[in-house]
Amino acid sequence: MSTYTNTQEVIQINKIAIIGAGLGGLACAIALQKLGYDVQVYDKARDFRPVGAGFGLLPNGLRCLDAIEPGIVSLIKNSACEVSQTVLKNNQGETIRTTKGSRYTEKYGLPLITVWWWHLQQILASKVPDNKIHLNHRCIGFTQDNDGIDIYFDGGKTVRADLLIGADGINSAVRETLFRDDKPRYLGDMSWRAVIKCDQELLNRSELGFVKSNREFMYLLNVGDGHISWLYRQLSPDFCLSPNATEAKSQVLNKIANWGKPLRHLVEMTPAERILEAPICDRLPLETWHQGRVTLLGDAAHAMAPALAQGTNSTFEDVCELAWCFSHYKNISEALTNYERRRIESTTIIQNRSAEGEMDYYKTEEEKSPSLVLQQLQMNSEEFQNWIFSYQPPII
Ligand SMILES: Cc1cc2nc3c(=O)[nH]c(=O)nc-3n(C[C@H](O)[C@H](O)[C@H](O)COP(=O)(O)OP(=O)(O)OC[C@H]3O[C@@H](n4cnc5c(N)ncnc54)[C@H](O)[C@@H]3O)c2cc1C
Repeated sequence: MSTYTNTQEVIQINKIAIIGAGLGGLACAIALQKLGYDVQVYDKARDFRPVGAGFGLLPNGLRCLDAIEPGIVSLIKNSACEVSQTVLKNNQGETIRTTKGSRYTEKYGLPLITVWWWHLQQILASKVPDNKIHLNHRCIGFTQDNDGIDIYFDGGKTVRADLLIGADGINSAVRETLFRDDKPRYLGDMSWRAVIKCDQELLNRSELGFVKSNREFMYLLNVGDGHISWLYRQLSPDFCLSPNATEAKSQVLNKIANWGKPLRHLVEMTPAERILEAPICDRLPLETWHQGRVTLLGDAAHAMAPALAQGTNSTFEDVCELAWCFSHYKNISEALTNYERRRIESTTIIQNRSAEGEMDYYKTEEEKSPSLVLQQLQMNSEEFQNWIFSYQPPII
């Protein structure tokens, strides 16, 4: 536990340690190194591997990325897909309806981009000097005093820093050490996802597909360079993970046995070891994210269901707000208090609405009940979307 006592004296920060070289940790490193801090990033992964699936970058997240690193959105577009059209399909792969993707640009000034998680991780990592990223460093805890923090790693290494940012995802060791709160909450559906390079006739290269079936669905995302990502989800009140990758692949194929051939073919041609099987979980909102010299960011602070596709996009908002607070307050306590003041309320709303929305995926229009979150906010869904996508990062 922390031995830090809160003082209001002005503290000079030099070294910042970030736990986690995921999308949040790397974006945060880019932003804070620009403010002149010595930023060191630690991740438990042994190397950067082509992992993850495709996901959507939306106007609020893209606006933040451009504020963090001007020009980076053009770089991302080169190895991603700017969605021109969203296609709704039935489980035979036949198109039911199409919607223009350009509505994002028309309304919010920025498009919807689908990207491979790993590609974005590589782009962000390329903006942080190699010698600042320390792989094979699993954080197992920390202690802090009035002068700094000792961060402990598996294997016995200890690092001292002035500030610690836990960007270590939904199972955050930093959050666990800080608050010892609940574990991730299972929301009642399972996901299987993968990225493959293939020729397919379901989508053209600038389309995003959504296949709606009974208590199950699949997203099809182009993620650039001829790669396609499929993400299959099914309502599963109880979950149990497959014993190995081959079993996980067989599970998906059994579940979609009556689907059309082009869709089954996508899964059939995916090497089993590329398929990630995972329960859909979130974390309950916290009332505070920091203690002394330690704070949280991204999934560590507010892991949410993927329904609104805001997990990564809202993480980039955290980065902009945290960097802004460090450029405006020279006192750690003030900076971290203001950071969470600017973030907790909106991320709590998005977490709650995401959890509600996750279950809506599996309901018919008649089964859906009005959103409690939107009722409390006195907003309709369009106003809510406008609120999310119109987010403007502060000028750092
Ligand atoms: C490998 C991977 C693939 C993903 N793929 C997708 C995807 O395809 N689609 C999608 O929507 N979301 C994906 N996500 C989740 C998504 O990145 C997050 O929801 C969102 O971007 C917030 O990011 P984050 O940086 O807070 O957390 P994360 O992206 O989860 O990153 C956390 C990082 O912390 C590291 N870490 C965890 N524990 C420790 C520890 N104890 N010590 C040191 N390092 C630690 C992890 O290795 C990881 O690199 C993925 C996450 C990971 C880790």
